[in-house]
Amino acid sequence: MKHKKLLSAYFLFIHALVVCGQESDADKSKKTEIWSPIPKIVTPSNRLGEPPSDAIILFDGKNLDQWLSKNDTTKSAQWIVEDGVLTVKKGTGNIRTRQNFLDYQLHVEWSVPKNITGSSQARGNSGVFLAAWGNGEHGYEVQVLDSYKNETYVNGQAGSIYKQSIPLSNPTLPPGEWNVYDIAWTAPRFNDDGSVKSPGMVTVFFNGILVQNHTVIKGETKWIGQPEYQKHGALPIMLQDHGDPSPAISFRNIWVRPL
Ligand code: MG
Repeated sequence: MKHKKLLSAYFLFIHALVVCGQESDADKSKKTEIWSPIPKIVTPSNRLGEPPSDAIILFDGKNLDQWLSKNDTTKSAQWIVEDGVLTVKKGTGNIRTRQNFLDYQLHVEWSVPKNITGSSQARGNSGVFLAAWGNGEHGYEVQVLDSYKNETYVNGQAGSIYKQSIPLSNPTLPPGEWNVYDIAWTAPRFNDDGSVKSPGMVTVFFNGILVQNHTVIKGETKWIGQPEYQKHGALPIMLQDHGDPSPAISFRNIWVRPL
């Protein structure tokens, strides 16, 4: 009897050793848990599309304090602010942010006037340049255009990366309504010798619909010729005063979150 008890105690002991030596699934899963750095707390807005707590407000309907004229960067931007809306003043040139940015999330709303005229590229043409340099001649353009029942080359319609990437769909609303771009931009990085270390990449939601999905930028936007890269760092964001004769388009609710 005593012998049996000793034997069962021995087996219990061995069993406990085996169980202790075995890693539980919970322990295994802990090996791939990461606890820091803790993401910062950002308070979202009450209404989707309004700036969250950490956004830099670029235009909130009041003034153009955050913008300079691209033609003359000693001057504030000359576009028109009225009734909470920013409208291109044709002929005054592109406008650029005072601040430079590298990688960011950008929200822009734009509207083509109801009385729009023209066709193809000459109908409500503007653009959001994700990074711009020179006298506004260089940059990476997300096209802004009245693409509601307006045929044009597809790599030049609204939501395209101009002359580089066709949008995945066309969710443009009719003239008079507000369209929304939500953009995630990763700026290109360069080696010391000017060669590209990693290209720019962009994702664009257009009225909530994905139109550019992690699109690789081929180089700066060119009207004529193939895109190519020039070395740069942080740069302003720019809005385009396009030279076409159609009535000017408007912007509102512009904010950015550097990443
Ligand atoms: Mg344009």
